[in-house]
Amino acid sequence: MGCTAQDIASALRAGAAVVAEHRDELIQLDREIGDADHGENMDRGFRAVIAKLETAGPETPAATLKLAATVLISTVGGASGPLYGTAFLRAATAVGDETELDGRAVAAALQAGMEGVVGRGRAEVGDKTMIDALAPAVESARNAAESGADGAKVLAAAAEAAHQGAQDTEGLVARKGRASYLGERSAGHIDPGARSTALLLTAFAEAAGA
Ligand code: ADP
Ligand code: MG
Ligand code: MG
Repeated sequence: MGCTAQDIASALRAGAAVVAEHRDELIQLDREIGDADHGENMDRGFRAVIAKLETAGPETPAATLKLAATVLISTVGGASGPLYGTAFLRAATAVGDETELDGRAVAAALQAGMEGVVGRGRAEVGDKTMIDALAPAVESARNAAESGADGAKVLAAAAEAAHQGAQDTEGLVARKGRASYLGERSAGHIDPGARSTALLLTAFAEAAGA
């Protein structure tokens, strides 16, 4: 099964639902090592994305991803808004004018998205950020795509790796973002952005039918 503009819109709606459902959890994670607003930021941003989807009706995968990017950048004040926004923007560029994405295109879009976050935030693997969920997700996605998986299976592989990556941020000391102000005291807590990345990828995979 391919992944059309409509499928991506459905995935974004599923993402909005999971973010709303986990709003308090994300706030709590950010309270421990940040400023307690990650759940609120993500919820506000994704609500705005689905509201815009209702009125705009983008017709291609790229236009749908670009809509998400623009809305997230303009509605989320925190660090995560521009970072997620950049990820969606770079994913939009990566899919080009394709009307239906196969597994390889989905994996390439994820990789481009991660590269966008790295380009903007300069975090490396191990810095205790969303990159610690995204990097293993991208690698698993690529492996799945290379063995012939469709978009949904690629997303499922990415989500599984992202959950492990997010879990593993617990032991890390933050070197980027607000949590880095805590130094060693940031260890012992899961990074909120890594957790939201894992939740979103799971929602996208389930929406795609994995
Ligand atoms: P803020 O820190 O401005 O309040 P949020 O709470 O919404 O923004 O988002 C915090 C999350 O953003 C962190 O948990 C981390 O995953 C991510 N983050 C912060 N800085 C960076 C960075 N430089 N690179 C990648 N991710 C980052
Ligand atoms: Mg915060
Ligand atoms: Mg904040």
